[in-house]
Amino acid sequence: MAERPYDENEERKRYIWRHFPDAVRPHECIPHPDAVEAALPEHHREAFRRYYNAIGSSDSPAPLPPDLESLVTRIQADIETASLDAAVGDREFDIHRCAQCNRILQSPSAQQCLWCGHDWH
Ligand SMILES: [Zn+2]
Repeated sequence: MAERPYDENEERKRYIWRHFPDAVRPHECIPHPDAVEAALPEHHREAFRRYYNAIGSSDSPAPLPPDLESLVTRIQADIETASLDAAVGDREFDIHRCAQCNRILQSPSAQQCLWCGHDWH
């Protein structure tokens, strides 16, 4: 069974990246740090900017506080999803789903659901 909680947007995004590389690639969806910063509450922006500016400098940045890090991760995921949606437009994808729980499967040929354990081998 999967170790992470199910998130429809994240699973759809991963599935499209993995199985429809002609539609959009992951690197095309990487959010610009300015967009991440703009989406943060005002009081977090400076800490994020300091952290981001330190990446790639000779000193490795001090880690973000856990609450800010999880907020940044969520904002990045939301921006990725929006970028993916914008890139694919109205295109419909044939996404393989579990007959039992309707969650997105790992691949078009999957015969077992990692989310509920349903198996149709
Ligand atoms: Zn299932």
